[in-house]
Amino acid sequence: MEQGQLIDGKAIAEQVKRELKEEVEEWTGKSGKRPGLAVILVGNDPASESYVRGKVRDCEQVGIHSELIRKPETIGEEELLSEIRRLNEDEGTQGILVQLPLPDHLNPERVISEIRPEKDVDGFHPLNAGRLVTGLDSLLPCTPHGILEMLKRSRISVSGKHAVVVGRSNIVGKPVSLLLQRENATVTMCHSRTADLAFHTRQADILVAAVGRLHTITRDHVKPGVVVIDVGMNRTPEGKLAGDVDFESVRPVASHITPVPGGVGPMTRAMLLYNTIQAAKNRSS
Ligand code: NDP
Repeated sequence: MEQGQLIDGKAIAEQVKRELKEEVEEWTGKSGKRPGLAVILVGNDPASESYVRGKVRDCEQVGIHSELIRKPETIGEEELLSEIRRLNEDEGTQGILVQLPLPDHLNPERVISEIRPEKDVDGFHPLNAGRLVTGLDSLLPCTPHGILEMLKRSRISVSGKHAVVVGRSNIVGKPVSLLLQRENATVTMCHSRTADLAFHTRQADILVAAVGRLHTITRDHVKPGVVVIDVGMNRTPEGKLAGDVDFESVRPVASHITPVPGGVGPMTRAMLLYNTIQAAKNRSS
């Protein structure tokens, strides 16, 4: 049976990182400094530990200086905010990232809002979110930006297409909808209260699934020739990592599809490096 073409996020991310490494060398050559990323990890959540280790490794790969700041699970909000304020003032730190989720006693909105917007390399600060909505330049959230970059580098045109986004979170669904619209797609947003999800998703030329639930998108949810971007990261009952899309049944009808793992995840990581370099350049320009 014919199969939809795989969009190899891992390979595209490696290419992006090679380009970023050159940009870091050039910036370092001019400024005599390395771009610096500070990552704050509160507590010892194993998934967060592993993400943070990945981010530190990625930085090493392209020549960004990274500092991992560990704080105990019990840290008070004021102490965390004052650490952020210290980093806001630190000349050697161009990017600040607070690994989410935070323990329940800490308010993530307050914590993220404390980061200086020019150093907000996750692109979650309300000011950066607002700039995105109004079409101004900003540090873009990494997953949505990675998706757009992956489409561009796979030569999949967006303009005039009908994009359907399932999920409306602030970190994926909403910003990816805005970026697709910025690229002149006609965008439909779906969520948990959408009546007849399959009716909407079957209209999609480009379908982005950002739900966090296995097999939300099956063969019945797509039309032939669709481009499928699977953001979800779920565990199967066997403990394997899998997306929101039933890959086996959807791939044969899709024109292109991202795998999980190896699709959106590596692009998200690459775009964090992109933002850190961008923040460093913005500061020196
Ligand atoms: P959230 O839980 O914040 O949002 C999930 C969205 O899905 C909500 O808008 C929710 O609707 C919607 N939803 C839930 N159930 C359904 C349903 N049955 N039908 C339609 N819509 C539904 O998740 P995130 O956006 O943070 O993440 C989504 C997934 O992407 C997760 O698996 C996450 O792990 C993964 N992820 C992957 C990244 C990567 O780099 N690969 C990066 C970030 C996230 P409502 O608003 O009505 O509740």
